[in-house]
Amino acid sequence: MSRNQIEEIKDRLDILEVARSYITNFKRSGTNYFALCPFHQEKTPSFSINPELGIYKCFGCGESGDVFTLIEKMEGVEFSDALEIAAKRAGVKLERNYSEKDKHIHEERQEILKINALAAEYYNYILCKHGQGKKGRKYARERKITKKLIDEFKIGYAPRAYTNLLKFLKTKGYTQQNLIKWGLVVSGSGRVYDKFRSRLIFPLINHRGDIAGFSGRTILKNTKAPKYLHSPQTLAFDKGKFLFGLEQSKSAIRKSNFVVFCEGQLDVISSHKTDVKNIVASLGTSLTDDQLTLAKRYTKNIYFCFDNDSAGESALIRAANMAHKLDFNVKAVNIPEGKDADELINTNKAEWIRTVKKAEPIVDHMMRRLYRRLDLSKLEDKEEFSKIILPLIATIPQKIEQAHYLHRVSLILNVDDNILAEELESIQRSSDIVPKVNTEKIKAVLKSPVSVKEEYLLALILQHLQFLEASLKNINQTCFSSPLAREVFSKLKRYCAEKKRFSLKNFTSGLEEHEVSFVQNLLLKNLDKYFEVESEILAEIEGITKILTKSFLQNEIKKMKAQIEQAEITEDKAEVRNLIKRLLEVTEKIGSS
Ligand code: ATP
Ligand code: MN
Repeated sequence: MSRNQIEEIKDRLDILEVARSYITNFKRSGTNYFALCPFHQEKTPSFSINPELGIYKCFGCGESGDVFTLIEKMEGVEFSDALEIAAKRAGVKLERNYSEKDKHIHEERQEILKINALAAEYYNYILCKHGQGKKGRKYARERKITKKLIDEFKIGYAPRAYTNLLKFLKTKGYTQQNLIKWGLVVSGSGRVYDKFRSRLIFPLINHRGDIAGFSGRTILKNTKAPKYLHSPQTLAFDKGKFLFGLEQSKSAIRKSNFVVFCEGQLDVISSHKTDVKNIVASLGTSLTDDQLTLAKRYTKNIYFCFDNDSAGESALIRAANMAHKLDFNVKAVNIPEGKDADELINTNKAEWIRTVKKAEPIVDHMMRRLYRRLDLSKLEDKEEFSKIILPLIATIPQKIEQAHYLHRVSLILNVDDNILAEELESIQRSSDIVPKVNTEKIKAVLKSPVSVKEEYLLALILQHLQFLEASLKNINQTCFSSPLAREVFSKLKRYCAEKKRFSLKNFTSGLEEHEVSFVQNLLLKNLDKYFEVESEILAEIEGITKILTKSFLQNEIKKMKAQIEQAEITEDKAEVRNLIKRLLEVTEKIGSS
């Protein structure tokens, strides 16, 4: 087995996540996670994991090792089998007997890292000291990049000349062919010349502290050349697996226990002038699972800071769904429209820090954003709202949080909780990165938000106001599963409790607009029956109440059964007993009704 593959597997796996499949109840303490040791009997946790280093140790029994020994011990297998298991989890295909090839790859990677370090020093020297760096220095000043930042990020400048770096590296003994392959030099129209010219150079320092490649920002104002150039993919650099700023930010990420994800290198660099030093960026490409997994070694809390425009919004939704699937808690930083972090920082540092502090949970953020943009009294807009919000809720890792948001959506859209829950389940079953919503179904649901019987019951009361007091006594709020009907009913009840005389006008003036139109409809509804005496109407109400209560209880039973199943899976015996007791009570109620 090659060292390279072993390292790759190790890099991709989060030891904490692997450990969690065997051991439960980890508690965080600083950079480490503690749990009860699986290798010996104990009452207080002394088994510790350090996710960043990828190691574990028990301070009680002395067991220690890495992700492979953990799998060996827990599965009771040999190293080679543990490796197989680990490779599978990491999604790496094991190659065997390629040691010669792997050795070669390893050596070439080391060569690239070495030459990159050399080139970075060269660019940095030009920016800081050389006459040819004058324009670079001016541009750095304009962008408010301080000397401290230049040192910390090893920033440099590639002058306008065509073959400076090429000549320099040739004197160090590198061949033209390799320089092209490794992306420092390019060839075209029969000439070979430096790839980066008239550009501020940001070395791409990986999480091991090596310079994997470069990113260059043109300093020219009117140019057809691209604003940024990046190193090509090499054995040392893969854009999709790289996070800019991780090396400089990781200790702050660990300390604050969250990471800000923004869009550009300059956002990261500028932010290091402020207290927000826990910040990374992808290189303008859309986010990948690999990048998120990399960040997850340091924290499970992620704040996305994308442009406040429609492209930024799509990127945010996609990124949030991906992060949810990897178990992150996601928030959104609400940057002012038309600005990026770098611009905000350079006009008002304190405002930037405040903005980051005020980051909102992603679902709240998106709901507010959509609420502002859409008109939720329109069917199409309700559809668009659910198309975006439901998948986002569906990927939230915590069930309780999911239920909380689902309930809020049901109130906002005026759709039954249960139907939304069903929709959510079907989204969860599909495995798309950005899940799709079955809009046909939602559409149908939105059109009939209140069940026929519930509507009938409310209409019954509202059309016989002379019997109002007696009617209300007989009805339980649980009759109403539709949020709209329930809300109107409880307002009606409250109104009657507070006021001596019922006035329809006065009552409706206290309702929301959509509730008013709902009540008006009910008042106009044809009941197909005519009740003259109190006893008749009360009997009708009693009958319909029974039916509705029963269906409410049946629904409760369904929910409880699911909860019991869940508790059985987690072997929470006390909870199972408790639920069964409640289940019996509820079934009893149904029997007696
Ligand atoms: P600046 O502040 O220097 O204008 P920015 O970060 O605000 O840069 P954006 O246009 O928001 O620029 O782009 C975000 C990121 O996308 C950049 O930091 C860069 O990594 C990448 N990028 C931008 N333009 C290009 C390009 N033409 N080619 C490749 N990558 C690019
Ligand atoms: Mn910018």
